Amino acid sequence: MQDDGARQAVIATALEMNRLGLNQGTSGNVSCRAAAGGLLITPSGRPYETLEPADLLRIGFDGTVLEGKGRPSTEWRIHADILAARPEAGAVVHCHAMFCTTLSCLRRPIPAVHYMIAVAGGDSIRCADYATFGTPELSQAALAALADRKACLLANHGMIAIGTELRKALALAVEVETLAAQYWRAVQVGEPVILPADEMTRVLEKFRDYGA
Ligand code: 13P
Ligand code: ZN
Repeated sequence: MQDDGARQAVIATALEMNRLGLNQGTSGNVSCRAAAGGLLITPSGRPYETLEPADLLRIGFDGTVLEGKGRPSTEWRIHADILAARPEAGAVVHCHAMFCTTLSCLRRPIPAVHYMIAVAGGDSIRCADYATFGTPELSQAALAALADRKACLLANHGMIAIGTELRKALALAVEVETLAAQYWRAVQVGEPVILPADEMTRVLEKFRDYGA
């Protein structure tokens, strides 16, 4: 089957996402670009442990199912819209990570409480406006929150991380959840000190080739 390696990588990423405690059950979804065209995405509502490569859907950027039998993730639009709008992105991870979701329920973006916020591409991680799951409105809200960023929170829902490849999108999701946990803990004790804009400019400059 074409894209067999990519199909296995999508399933491995979804399993790892749950194993790491970033997500639970059938919540969340994972996608990457398909060499055959369009994108590969997890099916809707299926436990990741039960997935075989052929269970993934290959869809066009308009949602047309090009390959596969089941129903694509209800959030296919978010994945397709991100991959269409962001040529540098190769993969998208969406999960209901505990601390990101907690902050998103408070509609609280993550400010520059730690210099590692730069890992998501800017000096904050925005929280997208609320919209019903699986709607074009949610996709639009997510794209807006992702402007110049590689991750965002989704109000009363969860988070999204994007990367050039699956491994990087998942690694970013881990970093963002760590930042959310640190921010959440800090606000339990007091008012965290937010790093000033000039410091974040320096950090973002250093991040340009960090890990390259
Ligand atoms: P799917 O099972 O349809 O991918 O939905 C899970 C989810 O997280 C919806 O936002
Ligand atoms: Zn979701």
